[in-house]
Amino acid sequence: MHALFDPRLVNDAFGDPGLYVDFRDERRALLFDLGDITRLLPRQLMRLSHVFVTHTHMDHFCGFDHLLRVILGRKACIVMFGGPDFLDQIEHKLRAYTWNVVHRYEVELVIDARELGVGGGGQRALFSSRRRFAREAGASFGRSDDVVHDEATFRVRGRFVDHDIPCVAYVIEEKARVKVAKDRLEAQGVSAGAWLRELKHAVLTGAPDEAPIQVLWRDRHGEHAMTRQVGELRHLILAIVPGQRIGYVTDLRYTESNVETLSHLMHDVDLLFIESVFLDEDKAHGLRKNHLTARQAGLIARRLGARAVVPFHFSPRYEGRSAALIAEMQAAWSGTSALAGQRPNL
Ligand SMILES: [Zn+2]
Ligand SMILES: [Zn+2]
Repeated sequence: MHALFDPRLVNDAFGDPGLYVDFRDERRALLFDLGDITRLLPRQLMRLSHVFVTHTHMDHFCGFDHLLRVILGRKACIVMFGGPDFLDQIEHKLRAYTWNVVHRYEVELVIDARELGVGGGGQRALFSSRRRFAREAGASFGRSDDVVHDEATFRVRGRFVDHDIPCVAYVIEEKARVKVAKDRLEAQGVSAGAWLRELKHAVLTGAPDEAPIQVLWRDRHGEHAMTRQVGELRHLILAIVPGQRIGYVTDLRYTESNVETLSHLMHDVDLLFIESVFLDEDKAHGLRKNHLTARQAGLIARRLGARAVVPFHFSPRYEGRSAALIAEMQAAWSGTSALAGQRPNL
């Protein structure tokens, strides 16, 4: 049983923050933050359906131009989410260029921008290459239970944390995961294949028993095909278990209200990506810069009950000392009182 998502940081821990979440079974991906993304290949950028921006400090938003340049004339639509002023900022970025020929490009690009309001709800605007990226107002939208984006198999939720400015912390939630009974599959004489993904999807999205599934598979005797109904194949499913949850938390201050906000949003998260910008010996500096220390990140991970943690967004002042930041975060996360630089006594 594998997860729907394959998440990885765009850069190393000292580079601009960004999380690329690939889908294992589909040619698509999500991106969290839009800083330096030049390490992503054009085909990886072409797979993006949605981009979620935490806030628009340069290290989180300067990659907008690069993304636009790669997808313009090739991709039809991209949805982008951000916080206050996001629609104006997208508009200003687009107005910085001269667009006298793009309306003739064969593939029209529509940037569907969604601005999340601090008090809930949000505003939408569309920018089409056919109209030289002139801003067109979309309908405002509501938000309940922190849901920013919702699909049949997963959702993305977000809440504002305080980074001196409002900044969105996001959590990606796979709704459920299907466990297949391998022995029953073998007893049936069929092997796994794309049809099994189709069956899982049908089960997760509540398809009726009569829905047909084309069971295609290949073995040493060649290719086989038959049509079966979802109801006939349901016994191959062993269980439906909760899906994977991945938190993406950057940039924020270490305050009780931020920790509470994160607890509401992503308690018991399976995998947490969290900024760990400074060593705790520099926490006064961290406070001035509105960032966490590695120890504070570890304490938050512990409060959340995170099962796995990836620290990132290290300050360049610690170049060559990433082990100290990682050890400090792990010590606080695991509850040992190891000093920074020492390995936690797990
Ligand atoms: Zn920032
Ligand atoms: Zn930052």
